[in-house]
Amino acid sequence: MPRSISKTSFLAGYQCHKLLWKKFNDPDAFPGIDPAKQAIFNQGHAIGELAKSLYPGGVEVGKDVVAYQPVLEETIALLQRRVPLYEPAFAFEGGYARIDILVPDGDEAWRLVEVKSGTRVKDENLLDVAFQLHLCRGAGLTITRCSLMHVNRDYVRQGEIDPSLLLTEEDITEQVTGLLSKIPARLAELSAVTTRKSCPTVEIGAHCSKPYSCDLKSQCWAFLPEYPVTNLYRDTQGRKWEFLESGIHSLAEVPDPEILNAKQQVQVETAVSSSPHVATTALKNFLKEIEWPLAYFDIETTSTAVPLYDRTRPYQQTPFQFSLHVQETKGGPITHHEFLASGRDDPRPQFLERLHSWLPTTGSVVVYNASFENRCLRDCAAACPEHAWAAKVPDRTVDLLIPFRNFSFHHRDQHGSCSIKSVLPAVTGTGYSHLAIQDGNAAARSFTTAEFTDLPAAERDQIRHDLLAYCKLDTQAMIDLVDALQALTAS
Ligand code: SF4
Repeated sequence: MPRSISKTSFLAGYQCHKLLWKKFNDPDAFPGIDPAKQAIFNQGHAIGELAKSLYPGGVEVGKDVVAYQPVLEETIALLQRRVPLYEPAFAFEGGYARIDILVPDGDEAWRLVEVKSGTRVKDENLLDVAFQLHLCRGAGLTITRCSLMHVNRDYVRQGEIDPSLLLTEEDITEQVTGLLSKIPARLAELSAVTTRKSCPTVEIGAHCSKPYSCDLKSQCWAFLPEYPVTNLYRDTQGRKWEFLESGIHSLAEVPDPEILNAKQQVQVETAVSSSPHVATTALKNFLKEIEWPLAYFDIETTSTAVPLYDRTRPYQQTPFQFSLHVQETKGGPITHHEFLASGRDDPRPQFLERLHSWLPTTGSVVVYNASFENRCLRDCAAACPEHAWAAKVPDRTVDLLIPFRNFSFHHRDQHGSCSIKSVLPAVTGTGYSHLAIQDGNAAARSFTTAEFTDLPAAERDQIRHDLLAYCKLDTQAMIDLVDALQALTAS
């Protein structure tokens, strides 16, 4: 007997047959849920609860029940009550789905509401709802309308969250109905995949990342060499797939680099030579932009579906921390300053006050990826009009990302990335791996855990200590990179 195909499995099978087969036949191949994924689930759950509050008086179906049959039976019993149902289950033709919210429409019909924590309707959402609609109809329900409830990016929090303003419901009935005819054949095809004796052979490709980054990438991609063609920088033309198809796995093996763009040619050149590419004149010109007193500046932000603070929007990057290294004169001593918000109040006024007290009023402000820091500073200044000065800081930021994004310097150990996390080890041999917090997303998660949950004091203190260490390394990394570039161009 084939096992039922759930919504998640249906979408997984749509993405890749191998992925689906592994889900059913080799579940141990999948990594556990990491903190990043758990945070996404938690966010989705929070949005789901707010969405339910917009359809009050409903009944939670099969709460915490994972087995299919009891939830199906409970759903059938509850349909007769004609109240909103949260998470009812339906099964048909080998498919099984739990609907986020089912709302009575008239005496007999229903409306189907899918809830997502994103800010728009995506193609995969339509497919997901078409699958659900097929099962509901198959189970005998009349569905008059399908909608997607998602986050309204323009909502601005003022006091308690207002779910009716935070969430917006889009009618997707027409798009979903248009996809319905595809569902039965696809469901049958995927059911057949799950019962295959052996795993289907599927080559790696663009589908490994779209629409979702596949959990099995580390396994399926493991055959690639250390400097693979899949590292090609901004490969919008999909050259890497053409190379792989013709058996070329390594950048160093690319036979005709001239078909690539200039940056990709540098990647091939450095893969072959194993030496870094250094465009001395461009680097010198970049370094000439730096003026003293010199500040190295880095911001950490939160960005949540449900805004944490008044006067912020969903997913707005809201600064809670900075690290600042200041060097008054060239070659002089460097002083470190840092700020990390505490508590649940809007951190921006204090963030700006502290920054104002330590940031030199002249000279360069070196940042990595200036568009991000500049936008945060301008947003903060707009939110705190008494700190209008902050909106002028972007006039003197120097973006250390530029020489790496322009490939004025490139090392094959960057593996096709210009992020500071990839550049630092390639240039200096040091990195972030010794830290408890190693990237900005982890920093944001850790901050919200420390300040918005009731952690024991010792755990909160440890997180704050880890956050300070992480952000400090971001500015120290910039110092080390500027030093390294200066040394490279010294002769
Ligand atoms: S990594 Fe790619 S090929 Fe492998 S299972 Fe996932 S989607 Fe399929």
